[in-house]
Amino acid sequence: MAALTELSLLEARDLVRKGEVSAEELTAACLKRIEETEPKIGALLARRDEEALEEARAMDKNRPADLSDKPLWGVPVTVKDVLTLKGLPTTAASKILEGFCPPYDAMVVEKLKNAGAVILGKNNMDEFAMGSTTEHSAWKVTANPWDVTRVPGGSSGGSAASVAACQCFASLGSDTGGSIRQPASLCGCVGIKPTYGRVSRYGLLAYASSFDQVGPLTRTVEDAALVLQVIAGHDRRDSTSSPVPVPDYGAALHKKSDLSGLTFGLPREFFGHDGLDAGVAKACDDAVNAARSLGAKVVEVSLPHTEYAIASYYILAAAEASSNLARYDGVRYGHRTANPKNLEDMYTLSRTEGFGAEVQRRILLGSYVLSAGYYDAYYRKAAQVRRLIRQDYLNALENCDMLLAPVSPVPAWQMGHMSDDPLQMYFMDIFTLSLNLAGLPGLSIPAGMSSGLPVGVQLMGRAFDESQLFAAGDKLTRTLGTHNQHAPL
Ligand code: GLN
Repeated sequence: MAALTELSLLEARDLVRKGEVSAEELTAACLKRIEETEPKIGALLARRDEEALEEARAMDKNRPADLSDKPLWGVPVTVKDVLTLKGLPTTAASKILEGFCPPYDAMVVEKLKNAGAVILGKNNMDEFAMGSTTEHSAWKVTANPWDVTRVPGGSSGGSAASVAACQCFASLGSDTGGSIRQPASLCGCVGIKPTYGRVSRYGLLAYASSFDQVGPLTRTVEDAALVLQVIAGHDRRDSTSSPVPVPDYGAALHKKSDLSGLTFGLPREFFGHDGLDAGVAKACDDAVNAARSLGAKVVEVSLPHTEYAIASYYILAAAEASSNLARYDGVRYGHRTANPKNLEDMYTLSRTEGFGAEVQRRILLGSYVLSAGYYDAYYRKAAQVRRLIRQDYLNALENCDMLLAPVSPVPAWQMGHMSDDPLQMYFMDIFTLSLNLAGLPGLSIPAGMSSGLPVGVQLMGRAFDESQLFAAGDKLTRTLGTHNQHAPL
């Protein structure tokens, strides 16, 4: 039998349910795995080993007879450091929040706890979720568990590395322009960015509020469906959370044994892209062939405004970030400069010392595009382009049930390779961020390998149609042989 930590979340959970493994044993196994792997990958920031073990022990002792409303009973998970967890340092990997211990749990953390999950700690990330490599953390760099000289992707790179290295059975990340799907792809695991509004952002440290969504990273599609089931739904504390009822994702996933009746659309602009790695193109081909062999139809579709997605996203996201990050002023939380001469000096120095280079770049860019003389030329224009991009998706999804596309143009790259060139890093987001501009859901699934590194493909669907993505992703990963894979670390 595979090591306990290598099981899927559902397999591990069922062992605990049947009483064959205790919550304490499962938690101890993950903590041991963390001890073994953490020196090599550095996926975690704050940890709560003792508390987690104690919680697991207490759960074993006071186990309810009926676990039907505890779908994650005894399952160890981690969460990205962008989500508040009461009493544990939460910094969004930024110095500006050094020493900040939130007095409340994010809604999604509360939901994990209510479902019986054991939270092991917080995952490293790019500062305030700005980045695609997890090299922009104020605290440390996370390595890709498939090759520790390479980046795990970002900004939820710590989450993806933890899951791929079997430190936990699931992690929550956030996706503003690809930060769940891209690290999932680079680390060979599963990640879903739900429809905008599907999951409450109460307790999520905001980056760009009209884009941010929370979602799970796991090793199987079924596990992602279960975790999304737990965290999805309306929350009166987040007015952008949707009242649309949450369907039974698990039931939808098992309704059919093939993909007959489904049409997959391949966006022409994505596949014609110059920078597409041959191994990534091959993984997409394999996924397309697998879909066909399962009875699906495949058509070509067009997203004609794709070339404007990067410009539109980086203007709008920076604008929103500059406004969201204004709250970190040295007064209310986290870092404050030591010897300011006056009030203005206190604001300026606290923010200069507290924010890293990438975050400062975004604040500058965002303030610029929102300023009186440039608002119409940049911000308004980018918002108009956003509407066109959303319309592209809606049109394409009239001719198919979901789109199938690459996630990242290339597999995981060497650390340091793009750290001096932000623009080159922004270009790496070409296939992920237009979906956030459109507010639609996207599931990244592992689809194969390119020169020894994992490659993912994404399925992108209609608003609130996560069920369909899960159903297709589950069958595709089983056919491609990528169901429940982990890094050989
Ligand atoms: N790489 C993108 C950015 O830096 C996306 C990040 C994200 O999704 N949080 O903005």
